[in-house]
Amino acid sequence: ASGYTLLRDPHHNKGLAFTERERDSHYLRGLLPPAVSTQELQVKKLMQSIRSYDVPLHKYVAMMELQERNERLFYKLLIDNVEELLPVVYTPTVGEACQKYGSIFKRPQGLYISLKEKGKILEVLKNWPERSIQVIVVTDGERILGLGDLGCQGMGIPVGKLALYSALGGVRPSACLPVTIDVGTNNQKLLDDEFYIGLRQKRATGKEYYDLLEEFMSAVKQNYGEKVLVQFEDFANHNAFELLAKYKTSHLVFNDDIQGTASVVLAGLVASLKLLGGSLADHTFLFFGAGEAGTGIAELIALEISTKTNIPLEEARKKIWLVDSKGLIVSSRKESLQHFKKPWAHDHKPLSTLLDAVKVIKPSVLIGTSGVGKTFTKDVVEAMAAINERPLIMALSNPTSQAECTAEQAYTWTEGRAIFSSGSPFDPYEYNGKSFIPGQANNAYIFPGLGFGLVISGAIRVHDEMLLAASEALASEVTQEHYEKGMIYPPLANIRKISAHIAANVAGKAYELGLATRLPRPADLVKYAESCMYTPIYRSYI
Ligand code: NAP
Ligand code: MN
Repeated sequence: ASGYTLLRDPHHNKGLAFTERERDSHYLRGLLPPAVSTQELQVKKLMQSIRSYDVPLHKYVAMMELQERNERLFYKLLIDNVEELLPVVYTPTVGEACQKYGSIFKRPQGLYISLKEKGKILEVLKNWPERSIQVIVVTDGERILGLGDLGCQGMGIPVGKLALYSALGGVRPSACLPVTIDVGTNNQKLLDDEFYIGLRQKRATGKEYYDLLEEFMSAVKQNYGEKVLVQFEDFANHNAFELLAKYKTSHLVFNDDIQGTASVVLAGLVASLKLLGGSLADHTFLFFGAGEAGTGIAELIALEISTKTNIPLEEARKKIWLVDSKGLIVSSRKESLQHFKKPWAHDHKPLSTLLDAVKVIKPSVLIGTSGVGKTFTKDVVEAMAAINERPLIMALSNPTSQAECTAEQAYTWTEGRAIFSSGSPFDPYEYNGKSFIPGQANNAYIFPGLGFGLVISGAIRVHDEMLLAASEALASEVTQEHYEKGMIYPPLANIRKISAHIAANVAGKAYELGLATRLPRPADLVKYAESCMYTPIYRSYI
C-alpha cells in the first residue's frame, strides 16, 4: 500500500511514531513532519490535549476522532488511563453523545440495520469489512441508559461498549461489531428534527419487530457461526426479557442490562459481606425499580443464596422486595403484573411509597434501579440509617443526573455509616475527616471479562452459573486495603488483570458445563486468558 493509504488506515496508522526505516520502506517520506515520536510520548501529548477541554463532550469527540485515526493509540490511551477516560467513552458522557449523536456524527462507526434492510440482513452483514467477528453488541435504541428512546442515535452505546471489550477485556477490536437495529423511534423530538439520522417513523412492534430480530439473529449465526457472542444492550424491558428467553437456548446471547448488572451488583454484595458480616441469606433487600436491572439482580441474588445454602429458590426470593411505579410489588397485584415481576409478588399489604416500604420491610440493602434521579431522599436514607448500623445503598441509575442520591448525600445523611456505590462515578468524599471512596457498581467490571471468557473457551451458550462465577471472581479482587476505604469494588485501574481472572473463572465454568468448544482445556486458564488479550502496542512494519 502507498504511504498515503497507510496514514489513513486507523488499523495501521502510527502517525509520528513511524520510524525512519518505516518511512523509507513505506513511501512515507515527506508525508510526515521530520520528528519521530514514541507511543508513550503520543499518549502524553493526547492526554494533555484531552485534559485541556472543559466540556466532557469535547473529550468524547476527541477520543472518537482518535479511534478513527489511530486505533492502537486510542486503546493505549484508554488502557493507561482507564479511570479518567471511562467516564468519557462510557457513562455518563456517552449518554450526552447519544442525545446529540446527530450533530456530532461524522463517519459511521457500526452497522445500521433498519426496516429498510428487511430481507437483506445477511447481505448487510457481508458489507462489514471484517470477516471474523467474535462479539456483537446490538441495541434498538429504545432505552438508552436512563435517557429513554434515542432511536438510531443509540449507536454510541454499542460503539462505547465494544471499545471497553477491547480495552478492558482484551477482545481484538477487529473482532468486534457494533450494531443498531432501527425500527423507528417514539421520540417526537427526534422525529421532528430535520437532522435526525434514523428512520422517520414510530417504532414497529409485535410481529414486524420480532421478524426483523429473528432475521438478524439467524443471519448472525449463519454468517459467523455458533460461537459469536451477541450482547443485547439498552432494549426496553418489554422486549429485553422476551428476546433473552427466546434466544438463550439457540444462540450465545447475553443481556448486559439484566445479566451484566446482576453479576456486577452481586459481586459488590458478596464483597460487602466482609464489612457487614453474615451471609447473603441474612440480609433483606429492597429495590426501587423493578425492570431489567432490578429483577435481574434480584433473581441472581436469589440464585446465589439457593446455590450456597440449601434454601430453595422460592424461599430465597422472599428475602427480596421490589417497588415499581405503582408501589410495593405484592400478591394482590399479581394478576396485572408483567411476567418478570410475578416471582416477586409476596404476601403483604400494599404500600405506595418507597419511604413506607423502607420503614415496614426494614431492608439492610437498598438498591435503586428506576432510572429516576433524586429518589433516595433524606427521609429514605435516614430511615435506612435508623434501621441499620451500616446501611448498604446502591444508587445505580445512570447517567449521573439520574442517580438516586449522590455519594455526598449517602455519607452525610447516614453520618458516614453508609456503604455506598453508584452506577455512574462520584468523586471521593470527605466526611468528618475520613475519606470515603464510593464504588462504581458498573457493568464495565463484568461484561468485558465475561465476554472474553466465553470467547477464549469457545462457549456456545451462556449459563447463569457463569454469571455467578464472574461475580465471585470480581468480589475476590477486593482487598482489606479497599475495604478500609469503604470500597466494595476494586479500583478500575487494575481492570485488565481483573478481567483475566473473570474470564478464567467463566471459561472454567464453560468447560465444567460442557459448553466450551476450544479443546483441549488449557491447564492454566488465567495464564491462557492473559496470553490471548489484545494489546495496543505498535507493530513494526519492517
Ligand atoms: P427498566 O427496565 O425500564 O425499569 C425501570 C423500573 O423502574 C420499572 O420497574 C419502573 O416501574 C420503575 N420506575 C420508573 N419510574 C418510577 C418511579 N417514579 N417510581 C418507582 N419506580 C419507577 O429500566 P432498567 O433497564 O432496569 O434500568 C433502570 C436504570 O438502571 C437506568 O437508569 C439504567 O441506566 C440503570 N442501570 C444501571 C446499571 C449499572 O450501573 N450497573 C446497569 C443497568 C441499568 P414500572 O415497571 O411500574 O414502569
Ligand atoms: Mn445498558
